[in-house]
Amino acid sequence: MIKSFFRKNRPFLIAGPCSVENRDQLISTAQLLKDFGKVDLLRGGIWKPRTRPGAFEGIGEVGLDWMIEARQLTGLPLAVEVAKTEHVEISLKKGIDVLWIGARTTVNPFAVQEIAESLIGVDIPVMVKNPVNPDIALWFGAVERLQKVGIKDIAAIHRGFYFYGEKIYRNRPQWQIALDFKEAMPDIPLITDPSHICGKRSNLKNVAQKALDLNFDGLMIESHYQPDIALSDAAQQVTPADYSQLIESLTIRNNPVDAENISPELDKLRDQIDILDDEIINLLSSRMDIARSIGKVKNHKNLTILQRERWAEIYNKYLRRATELGISEDFINQIIKAIHLESIEQQEKIMSENKLDTRYPE
Ligand code: PEP
Ligand code: MN
Repeated sequence: MIKSFFRKNRPFLIAGPCSVENRDQLISTAQLLKDFGKVDLLRGGIWKPRTRPGAFEGIGEVGLDWMIEARQLTGLPLAVEVAKTEHVEISLKKGIDVLWIGARTTVNPFAVQEIAESLIGVDIPVMVKNPVNPDIALWFGAVERLQKVGIKDIAAIHRGFYFYGEKIYRNRPQWQIALDFKEAMPDIPLITDPSHICGKRSNLKNVAQKALDLNFDGLMIESHYQPDIALSDAAQQVTPADYSQLIESLTIRNNPVDAENISPELDKLRDQIDILDDEIINLLSSRMDIARSIGKVKNHKNLTILQRERWAEIYNKYLRRATELGISEDFINQIIKAIHLESIEQQEKIMSENKLDTRYPE
């Protein structure tokens, strides 16, 4: 069912509340989402994996009956999170259409294996959220465990990665991980979940647009008819009206299969980029040559590799330059730190190779 949407020229849209709370909340939300006319799948959390005890842990099995009723009223197929064999069994018994494995479950191969084994011989689509931590192998592993038991219709959900001290996002998107996932598993549709990435309403649109611009296959966004009084994830849920507005405001761009001959202007710009990329690589290589010579000098003088004042000076200079040049500080921060780290490694190599060599470099 998910795969059948995969090749169509529009994103697959999953919407619904973080948690199913009561009949009225679910049915009202589902009907409003249905009226919008573009939602493909209704989500609802029945068993909630809360990080700390004491929070609302889900309404449990009775919520599935309201979901079934919502499907009867709206025709929308249903998706539910499963974290245990018991959840799978109850969901299958009730006739839920799609299951998903949450981020806190994907981290645990034992749990994923148990879920997979409870699905032997069952033909149901399963979506796998990325693990909480940025370990792409766990994400692949969960998909492979499902494939091994014969599940054919699998999608992945990119919901961002926990990072201690993060302020902008609830979970950092780390788009490169999602891109690497797509590269390695091109046949698995990749759906972004802006709600759990953002943790609040304000940035949802940017994250959703970026996912579409990266050619991802769909969006999962939490929607609740009264988000402010939601029992879980209140800050990030949007009303069905805001949801419709958000989706309508997104730009769906073309993704030409034939990258050649789209526009002579684009070709020219791409040629310029290729030349610059070449220069960047050559410059980096020259910089590392110098780093190795510095390694020799430091070795000879018996100096430590890292001189904090010098590093702080370089680092701050480039952060200031970033602002002047209109490049994001975060980007320059990553680039300059990566270059610095590689320089250190090059120097370290020289210093360990030349332990007894105290000759001054030519
Ligand atoms: C959810 O979808 O409500 C949820 C618990 O998400 P995640 O597993 O991404 O934290
Ligand atoms: Mn949620």
